[in-house]
Amino acid sequence: MAVAGNTPTANFLTKIGKIQSAGCRLCRIAPEARGESTDGLAAETHGHINSVGCKGMATTVTAANHSIWRHLYDSMHAAQKPKSKLKFVTIDKQSNMSTLWRPEEFLRICSKEELAKKAQDIGVTMPVKKSQEARYNLYPQSFFVNRCWGRRPGGVTVAINKALQIVYILEFGRSTERDEGGFLEVKEAEANEQHTSIIDALKAAAPKCQFEQINFVVGVRGSVVESDFYTKLKRLDEQRRKKRVIGFSPIT
Ligand SMILES: [Zn+2]
Repeated sequence: MAVAGNTPTANFLTKIGKIQSAGCRLCRIAPEARGESTDGLAAETHGHINSVGCKGMATTVTAANHSIWRHLYDSMHAAQKPKSKLKFVTIDKQSNMSTLWRPEEFLRICSKEELAKKAQDIGVTMPVKKSQEARYNLYPQSFFVNRCWGRRPGGVTVAINKALQIVYILEFGRSTERDEGGFLEVKEAEANEQHTSIIDALKAAAPKCQFEQINFVVGVRGSVVESDFYTKLKRLDEQRRKKRVIGFSPIT
């Protein structure tokens, strides 16, 4: 019912005077059991209970995200043309950038040391989020490098076009379909913001390569906006047809 968007949410029930608080009833359970304050709970909207931001739903939402992404990924893989130079690299859902940057094909793009250095240079120019301030104050020297290695590309998939030296970071997002027009733009902006620092660091560390982020957005009920989906697939495929070849940079 939550996914179908017809659960009577606390937000809705408050509006029609049935209950007093719009705060999420699932997020309330844990602090209430511990005898802690339940002030400032997120409003129980469909968007909230279908997101990892809801403490009661996070595990389920994450499992649904992985399952839908896996399905999309398999479809992309199956549709790959035989001559395609794209290599899809799938890393475990627990993997982060540090784990990803181990195989030789990644190290040929740039070394870990070089990437760490650029992550530091770029990181210091960006604001530290409020939620990360405590960690920054504890380890100001290593904070930006650790943050780079700790990033997990959401779609946990990277496609490398070896011939052209293009690395695609495929990001995956889910959104409620309720906001028909706007959800693509919002999710696109969110996904781009999430990886700006990684992509900027990669570009600086490996100037001979191209890095491109492609975001696939799926509705919570598993639907995709067809035109958007095919445009993104085409972007992956079209690069292949360009004749320009960029050689591997030497291993440093
Ligand atoms: Zn919640």
